[in-house]
Amino acid sequence: MDINLISDTVTKPSAEMRQAMANAAVGDDVFGEDPTVNKLQERLAEMFGMEAGLFCPSGTMTNQIAIKVHTSPLDELICDYTSHVYQYETAGYAFNSNIGINLLHGDYGKITSEDIVKAIKPRYDWLPISKLVVVENSTNKGGGNYYTLAELQALSETCKKHQLKYHLDGARLFNVLVETGDSTQAIGGAFDSISICLSKGLGAPVGSVLLGTQEFITQARRFRKVMGGGMRQAGIIAAGCLYALEHNISRLKVDNDRAKEIGTWLENLPYVAGVNPVKTNILIFTLKEALASDFVALLAEHKIVASAFGERQVRFVTHMDFTETMMVRLKEVLEQELPSRLT
Ligand SMILES: *Cc1c(COP(=O)(O)O)cnc(C)c1O
Repeated sequence: MDINLISDTVTKPSAEMRQAMANAAVGDDVFGEDPTVNKLQERLAEMFGMEAGLFCPSGTMTNQIAIKVHTSPLDELICDYTSHVYQYETAGYAFNSNIGINLLHGDYGKITSEDIVKAIKPRYDWLPISKLVVVENSTNKGGGNYYTLAELQALSETCKKHQLKYHLDGARLFNVLVETGDSTQAIGGAFDSISICLSKGLGAPVGSVLLGTQEFITQARRFRKVMGGGMRQAGIIAAGCLYALEHNISRLKVDNDRAKEIGTWLENLPYVAGVNPVKTNILIFTLKEALASDFVALLAEHKIVASAFGERQVRFVTHMDFTETMMVRLKEVLEQELPSRLT
């Protein structure tokens, strides 16, 4: 049995999702005429109480477009150093937007109003202008930690007070909302823009949606085009995203609960030094002596794929294609087969 815990991006479309995709009504979305894309954009905008949405091929593109619309060259973006926009988007903030970045050292990826206020630069010719704050919910490299609505609203107030734009990288936002029960309308009300990924735990093969005001999305459409993200009969993939929204949100709780349970096993294993707090579907733990690369190779011998996340840190991500049978097998490997190989 192959078990893949490398990321929740590995999920494959189910037979029902593929059926929905095959049956999708389509049109040319560069002309704004794909009914399925329009429906997806409207559905998510309505859900978050935002004026408009824009379907894009990836979450990197939705984040990069948001940064581009919110800033001008020589501005600066403020975020935690673990953020996807800093770590995993090929320095796109510099390439696409000609801006600088001011990195904060938060708590498992979470920053505070105090951190933001301290980071704001005074206005001098020789300094970039602090313009935008990006937060991630849940945090990816931060280990699946999350902000509650109240925390997000407090940061929103700070941003408003200091004339900073406020963008949410909500790649895994629904993994958070199934924990907190916070309202999507209230989340939408806190931000200038939101990026949602449908291709992570929600299980669609491709696609992210950017949300904001009508004016913001009108600008965003132009940048999507110049980045090469204007797609034609994109309703085929948007249909998978709509299917995901309709069927796969509440089951994310299962993924979160499984990650938490695996965390409790790991805490009691002789070769594990510690497990980061498990809040959603991402689990990061630290090994006592083994190197993460050796540990990951050992898992691979047992047909389990995971990622080394530092010298002695390993990351597991649970998702809809990681089943109960796989849970049982994973427990067996971790508790019975690995200890003798690691001492
Ligand atoms: C996956 C992810 C994205 C977007 O990634 P793509 O692979 O470009 O879709 C953005 N932010 C976070 C936090 C992510 O985990």
